[in-house]
Amino acid sequence: MNRDGLDLLQRGAALLELDLTAQLPAFEHLFSLLQAGNERLNLTALKTEEDIVLKHFVDSLTCLRGGYLEGELKVLDLGTGAGFPTFPLALVRPNLHFTAVDSIRKKIDFVRDTATQLSLPQVTPLVGRAEMLGRSPDHRERYDRVVVRAVASLPVLAELALPLLREGGLLVAQKGAITAEELNAGRRAAGEVRGKVQVVDPFDLPILGDARTLIVIEKLGPTPSKYPRRAGVPTAQPLF
Ligand code: SAM
Repeated sequence: MNRDGLDLLQRGAALLELDLTAQLPAFEHLFSLLQAGNERLNLTALKTEEDIVLKHFVDSLTCLRGGYLEGELKVLDLGTGAGFPTFPLALVRPNLHFTAVDSIRKKIDFVRDTATQLSLPQVTPLVGRAEMLGRSPDHRERYDRVVVRAVASLPVLAELALPLLREGGLLVAQKGAITAEELNAGRRAAGEVRGKVQVVDPFDLPILGDARTLIVIEKLGPTPSKYPRRAGVPTAQPLF
């Protein structure tokens, strides 16, 4: 990453009230691993320095808004792709213990190599589908938080994520602008899986100004055992 990229990262982070001085070398390392990985594996559509810094690194860090990811927490990143938001969050919040899940093996292979290179033992990569994990005793109701960025509509996320949370746990979903229709469907789906939308926090992505919304759904009670439905059904036939 050149000097401009580092400045952009620091400016973006400062707008989120984060001081990344200590973590800059690690972010530089992540940047170069991502670029090399992209050349080999075509992991992400974002390839320019500015896009990676603002739309991956700073964008992922916006999940920290509101303080829902503070403390010693077990966090599942649902559909982590090349490791977002996991890596930026893990670099600034070492108390978060991540299980970074994706159904695509080559992405998780990249996440594993990158976690090793960045010396992040608190990141556990896992190939799998949320629908399967939500039915596995090793994962169902085991997490304090599920974080998710750019994976599915809110009703689909509610069905995939709520089974994985313990009671009182939170789904922290970072999305673009959300329509009233999607939000209403999300509220109803959350109720069906024993959750409640507690926070809808619209904001602008630092520097670029793109619309974002942080949505927090709290798990209030045990999710009925029929959820999640089998792989692919939550997306093909959303609850609402
Ligand atoms: N969260 C990353 C980010 O923000 O850059 C990746 C976003 S990418 C658009 C969506 C990812 O979710 C893909 O890598 C896809 O394989 C994964 N995914 C979608 N549905 C999934 C499911 N049911 N279980 C596990 N992974 C899933």
